[in-house]
Amino acid sequence: MTNENQAEPNGFAALGITGALLKAANAAGFTDPKPIQAHAIPPQLEGRDIFGIAQTGSGKTAAFALPILSKIIGLGTKRRPKTARALILAPTRELAVQIEDTIKLLAKGAHISTALVLGGVSRYSQVKKIGPGVDILIATPGRLTDLVREGDLILADTKWLVLDEGDRMLDMGFINDVKRIAKATAPDRQTALFSATMPNEIAELAKGLLKDPVRIEVSPQSTTAAEIVQSVVLARTKQKRQVLSKMLADEMMRSVIVFSRTKHGADRVTKDLARDGFNAAVIHGNKSQNARQKALNDFRDGSVRILVATDIAARGIDVPGISHVVNFDLPDEAESYVHRIGRTGRNGRDGIAITLCDPSENGKLRQVERIIRMKLPVIADHLGSPDPQRDPKEKTERHFEPANDREHHGGRRDGRRPGSGNNGKKRFGGKPGGERQFAPKPQGDRPAGAKPNGERKPDGFKRFKGNNKRRFGGKRPANRAA
Ligand code: AMP
Repeated sequence: MTNENQAEPNGFAALGITGALLKAANAAGFTDPKPIQAHAIPPQLEGRDIFGIAQTGSGKTAAFALPILSKIIGLGTKRRPKTARALILAPTRELAVQIEDTIKLLAKGAHISTALVLGGVSRYSQVKKIGPGVDILIATPGRLTDLVREGDLILADTKWLVLDEGDRMLDMGFINDVKRIAKATAPDRQTALFSATMPNEIAELAKGLLKDPVRIEVSPQSTTAAEIVQSVVLARTKQKRQVLSKMLADEMMRSVIVFSRTKHGADRVTKDLARDGFNAAVIHGNKSQNARQKALNDFRDGSVRILVATDIAARGIDVPGISHVVNFDLPDEAESYVHRIGRTGRNGRDGIAITLCDPSENGKLRQVERIIRMKLPVIADHLGSPDPQRDPKEKTERHFEPANDREHHGGRRDGRRPGSGNNGKKRFGGKPGGERQFAPKPQGDRPAGAKPNGERKPDGFKRFKGNNKRRFGGKRPANRAA
């Protein structure tokens, strides 16, 4: 037991964090470890692998960053060129940026180099930064795979590997990239895998990548935080714009995320809000990295109070003080609902989540209610009212959804788009996707088939010039974010 007369360590010191790191953590306001940190830090300091079931917001970044930092500090600055001592893989660019920010905060005063490797921004500066070797590399799997394949990054010296939001990486089709990347790191590496949920594929991944891991679970699967007040407003799709604008006129809605199922839908909602006099930022996978970061920064610092987002922002983004989440429509996957509404009600503050539901979405609503194990109360019903007339001066827009408009893959967990129609067989031969190694540098440059933000055109998969085999990996999902 600790009391004031005894010099027993408490806080992070009691977990084994010392010196400059402890000082920086305390200075950053990290004085009392969160449960995930209390459970995950000591075993990692002992060299154990970790399997953490935890969501963003649980404090998992410091839970994996502090032990890695504490081991890397003291190793000196001598690194082999093009190598990284530790690699943290994250599914989205926003999460990767956020992780780097936290690491920089925690490593303040220590001489630790970090680098980010993300799709959607110039590779040149990334390659330059990792040229002399770095201590901690934070990356999204797509761009990282390219750099390794092209010889700009060597993973053989990587002794710490963290896979963050494993289930999300699975959803986004990164699983084979992740396996290949892990295989290229040092065989005696220490690994931590974090996932908010535990589908079978994640359990399998853990079995393949972790050695005798310590399993830590800090929040029960698919339950929502108690402090979020959830409700439903019944409104036909054509009524939703008006209902949303009326809602947003309430000044109590200080800081609001409006979720849309599709990228096209998010743009349309943002445009309609602007027409109705609301300034809203928008974030989705078709936006450039800079635009996404700016939208997030503007929302975070309060210059805009409304952020319209697709599910890509439903996880990983930690903006404190979001008062309301509005689901403009229901997500395709019921679990996304939990992640969406989890953007509010953070750090013990109250949050409100309102879902607009068209009668065609009733099935999805029932699924949500099944996984959150409660019936959502209906607080307003507009179904008896007529549809509002659109101002004829507003340009009529076709309400169609392009084939690659979803951020998700409709639940496919193998990363291939539905309808690729080859019954799970590889298109151009080769070993099964999960087992293939990094192929040698291909001719030509990847961006030929890639959109500016790193997403591929639907027909943008590359073929190996010469023998008609795919060079590396299976067909890339068209709508991956990084
Ligand atoms: P994470 O789940 O790592 O994204 O962390 C969620 C939020 O909690 C971030 O804003 C962190 O800065 C904050 N946080 C994490 N650990 C602590 C701690 N021990 N004390 C105070 N704040 C923390």
